Amino acid sequence: MACLAVTPVAPMQDTLRITEVFYSLQGETRTAGLPTVFVRLTGCPLRCGYCDSEYAFSGGTLQTLDSLMEQVASYRPRYVCVTGGEPLAQPNAIALLKRLCDAGYEVSLETSGALDISKVDSRVSRVLDLKTPGSKEVSRNRYENIDLLTANDQVKFVICSREDYDWSVSKLIQYGLDRRAGEVLFSPEHRNMNARALADWIVADNLPVRLQMQLHKYLWNDEPGR
Ligand code: SF4
Repeated sequence: MACLAVTPVAPMQDTLRITEVFYSLQGETRTAGLPTVFVRLTGCPLRCGYCDSEYAFSGGTLQTLDSLMEQVASYRPRYVCVTGGEPLAQPNAIALLKRLCDAGYEVSLETSGALDISKVDSRVSRVLDLKTPGSKEVSRNRYENIDLLTANDQVKFVICSREDYDWSVSKLIQYGLDRRAGEVLFSPEHRNMNARALADWIVADNLPVRLQMQLHKYLWNDEPGR
């Protein structure tokens, strides 16, 4: 029998599917307002009702870690944020985060809270979303992640209503989140939650949380790449 030649498949082990890499101001978290390079990975297994990055669900281009590191370095940043989509849905995100830390950047990771964060380099500030009922993805929360949080990490709640606020306060108390993570962030859902009402509730309840306003939405109306 004739032997058929098999075309070798290029190794994919050092690639990531990327939607965009851009330099802007961080709009959220404890580094809000600071110039930051964003590396947005393609793909997310969740479908939150308020998602503002649906354009990252599919498409993108494959890039090697080497080319990504070069691209990031070209901006000469201090801060790098790996976001999505859900970055941890791509296993090579773990290697990228380590390489960014090794290169000396201050690195943060925005993650949905639905996937295991245990393999993420401890130098990374993990910004862990706890999905509220208003997201329609509350059943995806992986509560085991809470035990892994350190003072270098941040927990974020996107709050869509008073019901979401009450739910978030119950989780804050139940898990003692302000003692486990460096920051607890309460973020008003941009279209449906009045930020001033949320601010008033936080003050009235004297909560140990930070109101976060998503600066980029006010500056650039959430344009991709800004
Ligand atoms: S986890 Fe983030 S990227 Fe994924 S659907 Fe929810 S808001 Fe969008």
